[in-house]
Amino acid sequence: MRIPENQIDQIRNSASIVDIISGYIQLKKRGRNFIGLCPFHQEKTPSFVVSDEKQIFRCFGCGAGGNVFKFLMDYKSISFVEAVEEIAEHLGITINYESAPIEQQSELEAYYDLNVFAARFFSDQLLKNDNGEVAREYLKKRNIKPSTQKIFGLGFAPFNRNAFLNHAIENKIDLQKAKQLGLIDSNDKGEYYDKFRGRIIFPIFSPNGRVIAFGGRIFSGEENAAKYLNSPESLVYSKRKTLYGLFHSKEEIRKLDRAILVEGYIDLISLYQAGVKNVVASSGTSLTEEQVQLLSRFTKNIYVLFDADSAGVKAAVRSIEILLKQNFEVKIIALPKGEDPDSFINKNSKEEFEEKISNAINFLEFLTQQYEIQGYFKEAATTSTAIRQIVRILSFLNDELKRNLYIKSIAKKFGLREKLIETELNNFLQNQNTNQKTISSTSRTININSEKLNLKTEDKVDNPFEKEIIRLLFSGNERIITHILDNVDVDNFTNENFKALAMIVEESFNEGKYSPAYIIDKIENDDLKNFILDISLSEHSISKNWDDLSTDGKIEKDTYEYAVETVKNYQIFRIEEEIKRNNKIIEESKDELLHLELLKRNKELNEDRISILNLKLKNEFGWDGD
Ligand SMILES: [Zn+2]
Repeated sequence: MRIPENQIDQIRNSASIVDIISGYIQLKKRGRNFIGLCPFHQEKTPSFVVSDEKQIFRCFGCGAGGNVFKFLMDYKSISFVEAVEEIAEHLGITINYESAPIEQQSELEAYYDLNVFAARFFSDQLLKNDNGEVAREYLKKRNIKPSTQKIFGLGFAPFNRNAFLNHAIENKIDLQKAKQLGLIDSNDKGEYYDKFRGRIIFPIFSPNGRVIAFGGRIFSGEENAAKYLNSPESLVYSKRKTLYGLFHSKEEIRKLDRAILVEGYIDLISLYQAGVKNVVASSGTSLTEEQVQLLSRFTKNIYVLFDADSAGVKAAVRSIEILLKQNFEVKIIALPKGEDPDSFINKNSKEEFEEKISNAINFLEFLTQQYEIQGYFKEAATTSTAIRQIVRILSFLNDELKRNLYIKSIAKKFGLREKLIETELNNFLQNQNTNQKTISSTSRTININSEKLNLKTEDKVDNPFEKEIIRLLFSGNERIITHILDNVDVDNFTNENFKALAMIVEESFNEGKYSPAYIIDKIENDDLKNFILDISLSEHSISKNWDDLSTDGKIEKDTYEYAVETVKNYQIFRIEEEIKRNNKIIEESKDELLHLELLKRNKELNEDRISILNLKLKNEFGWDGD
């Protein structure tokens, strides 16, 4: 099934990017554009710009940018097709799909399909195959019911080296793709074999329920094998951006407005089975900023469940830092020593677990408790270390009001002056500000990168108006673009990159499409794409040369008059450059005939120049005149 090109155009043209993005982050009007706090990186002052006219967005902090589809793809970690479908639904547009032969499917879809194929194979092995008996026994022992196994799509990878491989070959699966997804691997002789063998398989779903990867757990006590084997990163799977279980738990998380964070697959499944359904697992990594970002779309309240060993405490402290940075309300649930969520819920009822939740403590109490247990508060020196650590974590909190409340509470608890804690906190905050500065310097890097794009052709002098013309070609204004393409031969551009960009616009324009949101997807080179986003959305993008060279800097930018003026300046610069080149040749050459030729050409050029300038004068009289 495919969405026809003209429907994608219709959806893109009908959508309002400001409208859609406003559904997720707060935007404020600033000048011609809208600005807000970037959802793709941590920031305190907005560098995220959205243009209603051009229907594109750009973050000058982290470099995220594109059209409305790109925003949803990045924001929700979904595919292009899913983004198109979501906006269509929002707009009330019904998509008339057309079926496409398999070879025309997008590459991404082929990977998703292959994962579904594998998931079905593993599931059949578990539920229907005699080989699966050992796995069924194991899951029974772990008290994971068949109905729960089905909900999470659990499977079994047989011990045989070629079980999946043979099944894949029978079904004419692209083995290269299977290898890229980490389902099979090949040895030195180029022979393929199954990657997952003798393991319980946990399919990993995207928030929208697509199978993007697998986790495999050994269960038969093999000594040498790693306990867990996970799919490698692929086109459809990024470990850092994935939360296990979110697809199953997101509705409940939204409903209850809180999530419980656990570590493992089985912890999550056991809780879910017991009726605690608002759980996610970081599984396979310690909690990442991307995972927290993902979760923040569903709730800002989190309960961190940790194993009561020192590794568990360490992991909990790390998670707290990341969660506080993104303004989460963090509570900690401590389980009795020697228990993990899975064992606890299997010994106790849902009610007893809920009691644990209601007894959850805030992160500050948790940290204090932990330092207390470790004996930090017995001596003055270690006490100050502990307090400093607690204040350090407090500095990750973005909310000043909350910080102040916590300062009071720490002061009270340890009998210290508030001022002292404040000073300590300010030291940490200052350090963080320095880090922030490092982040904002990346936006400078982006600009430097676009400088790098100024590749010149031959020995021609760069025409400073080319950049401005490119910017105008991405204005989305039909009259402006028509005027430029009628009067400027982009083949003559001195800058190769600008030429490439202009040609993309020309090509699209000839097909009747000129919106920046459309053209941006036609640019394959990322540097060029970023360059366009930068000059299109920066308020200060007017080239410095413009102010130096323009005879009238007061014309409002992006108007038709401004475009006419820019084209004139471009032409005059070109003419003057050619005259200069010709004069140089005349100086250096003794060929009389060539002299005559060039003088004649210069005379023509001069006439052109004058007529262009006159045109300008006439216009000026036209504006001023009665
Ligand atoms: Zn950003």
